[in-house]
Amino acid sequence: MPDLIHLLPDSVANQIAAGEVVQRPASAVKELLENAIDAGADQITLVVRDAGKTYIQVIDTGKGMSETDTRMSFERHATSKINTAEDIFTLHTKGFRGEALASIAAVAQVELRTRPEDEELGTCLKIEGSTVKSQEFCNTPKGTRIEVKNLFYNIPARRNFLKSDNVELRHIIDEFQRVAIPHPDIHFTLINGKSELFDLPKAGLRQRIVNIFGKKFNEKLVPVDEKTPILKLHGFIGKPEFAKKTRGEQFFFANDRFIRNGYLHKAVCSAFEGLLQDGIHPTYFLFLEIDPARIDVNIHPTKTEIKFEDEKAIHIIIRTAVKHALGQYNIAPTLDFETDQQFNMPELPKGTAIEAPGITVDPTFNPFEDRRKGPRPVSISSNPSGSRPTQDWESLMNDLPELDAPTRQQEQIEIQETPTRKHFTQVGKKYILTSHGSGLIMIHQQRAHERICFERLMASLENKNIPSQQLLFPQNISFSASDFQVVQSLMPQLREMGFDIDEFGTHEVVVNGIPLTLESNDIQVVLDQLIENEKDFRGNEKEDHLQKMAQILAKVSAIKIGKKMEQEEMHHLVDELFACSSPYVSLNGKPVIINLNLEDIDKSFN
Ligand code: ADP
Ligand code: MG
Repeated sequence: MPDLIHLLPDSVANQIAAGEVVQRPASAVKELLENAIDAGADQITLVVRDAGKTYIQVIDTGKGMSETDTRMSFERHATSKINTAEDIFTLHTKGFRGEALASIAAVAQVELRTRPEDEELGTCLKIEGSTVKSQEFCNTPKGTRIEVKNLFYNIPARRNFLKSDNVELRHIIDEFQRVAIPHPDIHFTLINGKSELFDLPKAGLRQRIVNIFGKKFNEKLVPVDEKTPILKLHGFIGKPEFAKKTRGEQFFFANDRFIRNGYLHKAVCSAFEGLLQDGIHPTYFLFLEIDPARIDVNIHPTKTEIKFEDEKAIHIIIRTAVKHALGQYNIAPTLDFETDQQFNMPELPKGTAIEAPGITVDPTFNPFEDRRKGPRPVSISSNPSGSRPTQDWESLMNDLPELDAPTRQQEQIEIQETPTRKHFTQVGKKYILTSHGSGLIMIHQQRAHERICFERLMASLENKNIPSQQLLFPQNISFSASDFQVVQSLMPQLREMGFDIDEFGTHEVVVNGIPLTLESNDIQVVLDQLIENEKDFRGNEKEDHLQKMAQILAKVSAIKIGKKMEQEEMHHLVDELFACSSPYVSLNGKPVIINLNLEDIDKSFN
């Protein structure tokens, strides 16, 4: 049999390695920024075009490289940072695997210019797909400038896998922030095409965070500071009242390297327990200083997942330190947070008493008679699907899964024989109760209204006919540079949804009109949430995207738990709910309507 095994050429091996290190433009950005920091730069400029797909440039003022090092730096496993495997355990640099430059050069066209301070001439090296095209002396400032063009030019499959420019730019901004936050002593700049997204002069940590996330952050931050034998912890947590619905700014750094660690995240969340409503996420910027021997950053090529030797102890330290910080700043729950429990009465244990809702009957009212006189005036928008006349919600209730057939028949007979106007009772400013034939139905008011707002919005989006209200006083809203970039990218969708919005000066918009369902007080809230969502949104589907935005708008617009509702309002809400195409499930897949039939009630009395 002939021999089959052969060694892969370097270029192929590098391309394969690149698959692990360079997944997208943002991963190249991360590696290049880290190299600049390791080189001791005090100023780092990142320039990207087309979200890094065609062009990435990093300029640093670091120590530069000699002629030979320049050539060596692109070899695989070529590094100046470690000599032996043990060195990993005393490491204070970002890089050490010596793979990044080799990987990037395997999948892009790279040009590097570099000069150490004590040399007069620098080196310029061009390399494409692992092949050196040229190396010559050149005039160049002290430090290093590296350009990465046409990433994945030689691997079309990977290039096609990249997401939209917005999504890829978002990834780049994420990486940029993760590097810029822990290094406030370095001046960072990020330029995308012609616009400068960030200019972060040297500053303290708090100022750096504020420069990145906007002035509003200053009042949100509470310092954390704890020293223990195994680790030092410092940084900031966000005051609970500023916590967000969407996972926003949550950063852990171990020895100034951004890390992800679900277990430590839980430690922070547990310290916030009782202070945050379900589904609200704390903000934190926490820095762990720990002996490198006690962590293993080597478990993943991108080095964001790390293992700690004493994870349990670290968990406790973090939890305690965060609690301590919260306590020191006298942050106690000031709001009466309602827990949003599911109303699940059929499961009641034996012997539990149910208080009957006081139902008064208006015998003069007959919904069917009403219909015969002609339809009640119902706005078109309240019946988005057009498929179900709102007045038929009584019959719709017959579809309720818990109702069995005999009950249903009895019920219809009953309604026709003793026509009464439905009476609604509001319980706990949260649920709407009404009798239903021989049973009882309970509706979660907030979820119901969210569902209604959402379906209305989706229907008008489909018809391209969004009702909008002009504001009497247009509102100007300013953003941080990166949030403004997100808002800019969202403009078409915002307009589609009924916002009359325009750019206005630097990092500012003016809102002249808003969707009909929205209140003017909620403009900032909804824009913030849409921005957060955008940062987290990694999908590519246009429909999913608009749907997610509509959900956010619906949730902000909807009637909340805790709102007292009058008879007419409840009547209207229930009408509209049953005109929806999915009245039973909330936007988060939870129940909106619960039915309790006579049998269930009887059972509870046994
Ligand atoms: P690693 O960072 O893991 O050592 P890289 O492939 O990222 O591997 O870089 C290889 C080597 O090139 C580094 O060890 C460093 O000596 C040198 N190098 C890379 N970028 C720079 C830079 N911006 N300034 C100075 N030296 C650099
Ligand atoms: Mg490196």
